[in-house]
Amino acid sequence: MSLNIWFDGKVGRADTLSAPLTTHALHYGSGVFEGIRSYATATGAAVFRLADHLERMRQGAVALGFEMNVAAMAEGTIAVLRANQHRDAYVRPLCWLGAGTLGLDVAPQPQHSMVASMPWTSHLGSAEVRVTVSPFRRNSALAIPPLKLCGAYINSIMAKREAGTRGFEEAMFIDADGQVVECTGENVFMVRGGKVTAVQHVDALAGITRASLIEMTGAESRVVSLDELKDADEIFLTGTSAEVTGVSALDGRDFAPGSITAELRAQYMKVVRGEVPQYAHWLTEV
Ligand code: PMP
Repeated sequence: MSLNIWFDGKVGRADTLSAPLTTHALHYGSGVFEGIRSYATATGAAVFRLADHLERMRQGAVALGFEMNVAAMAEGTIAVLRANQHRDAYVRPLCWLGAGTLGLDVAPQPQHSMVASMPWTSHLGSAEVRVTVSPFRRNSALAIPPLKLCGAYINSIMAKREAGTRGFEEAMFIDADGQVVECTGENVFMVRGGKVTAVQHVDALAGITRASLIEMTGAESRVVSLDELKDADEIFLTGTSAEVTGVSALDGRDFAPGSITAELRAQYMKVVRGEVPQYAHWLTEV
């Protein structure tokens, strides 16, 4: 059965919708997207931190010189989840430049938006992952702002692919000074002596899961070197898709399953499922 997709204001069957081959975004990655989760809760499906995701997306739209209607994208998100009757789902909003000219000036290009939802599967695929330091550098914030701009993700795609060829599930970006940046689709945390630290870096995406964990735990946010990270008791990754995922190996260093990581993962899952009243305001009912 074909899924429904919200496309420029209307819900339609995915197999009846298409974009032309001269779509500007197909050639240049001229688009901005989000990755959002909805969860089954005791009172029905709910979207986690919808307003925060759409605000980050709006910042990406501004960076590209696009108009983005936040209220319309929020309506599209709810509409597509309802049409697909999804509860545990991944939601993918996208705004992009369509078919006009193939020039690099965004002004004459038509803009489009869509929201898709798909039944949930984790992109890391397990509660623990083996991570390697990537030979690739992260896009510098001075070259491309750390937002969810489509073309920028080629950097993540190449790093992830390279890590895979060496048998690792995920790649970690380190800067020229040996400071940890982030992974291809997750932020990095470490635990040492019971203390939780959120890795901070100017080239990293301001993760919404990261911000949630900082609020829930009071974790300190600061710059962390690779040497310090390798000395941690536990490392975990955060992301909308990855949620809270433990790191079982960082190159040659193995980590036993971490008790604090497990506890934080369980706490996060309670929050996203609406079981913690203090954070109920992070959920938007479908
Ligand atoms: N870094 C990158 C590069 C990402 O793509 C993501 C996923 N959006 C994250 C970190 C985690 O961000 P969030 O918690 O907002 O999903």
